[in-house]
Amino acid sequence: MAKKKMKETPEKTPKQGPEYIRIKFNQPRRYDWSTGRYLGHFYAEAKENKKIVGNRCPKCKKIFLPPTPVCPKCKVDMGWDWKELPQTGTVFQYTYLVFPLWDPHYGERWANPYASAIIELDNGFFYRHFLEEQDKEKLKEGMRVKAVWKEDYNERGQGPGDILYFKEIGKE
Ligand SMILES: [Zn+2]
Repeated sequence: MAKKKMKETPEKTPKQGPEYIRIKFNQPRRYDWSTGRYLGHFYAEAKENKKIVGNRCPKCKKIFLPPTPVCPKCKVDMGWDWKELPQTGTVFQYTYLVFPLWDPHYGERWANPYASAIIELDNGFFYRHFLEEQDKEKLKEGMRVKAVWKEDYNERGQGPGDILYFKEIGKE
C-alpha cells in the first residue's frame, strides 16, 4: 500500500505578519476636561461676557492668548493681569479651505468650504478665526471684520468656538 503524503496547502498555513487590533468607536466623543486656571478664565469671559481676553506679562508687557502662567520669553510668573482684546480687526491673511476637516475637540465636521483667517485685531494682536464670507471672490486681505458671538448662553462655553465667525463690517 502506497503511503499518502500529506500536502500542505497554502490555505492551511497560518499567515505570518503583524497582528492588528481593531477598535471601533462612535463619534462624536464628548468628554469633560479641566481647562486650568488661566485657560479657564479665558473660557469663562467668553461664555459669561462675550469677551476675548489674554493675560499680560508684567515684564515685557506682551499679551498672550492662549493665556499662560509663565511668560515664555521672560520666564516670569504672569500674575493675574488680564486685558480685553478688541473684537474688530483687519484680515491680515486668509486660507480658503475646501478640504474636509474634523473638529479635534468634538469630532464634528467643520463647515466646508470655509475661510480661515489671521486677523490683526485693532490693538495689533493676531488672532486666528473663521470668516463669515464663503464666496472666495469676495474674500480679500485688508477686509474690516468684527466678531459675531453665539447668542444662546447655553451654547457658549467652547472658548474660541463661542465666536461663530468674523463678519465684514458694514455688510448686513
Ligand atoms: Zn514677558
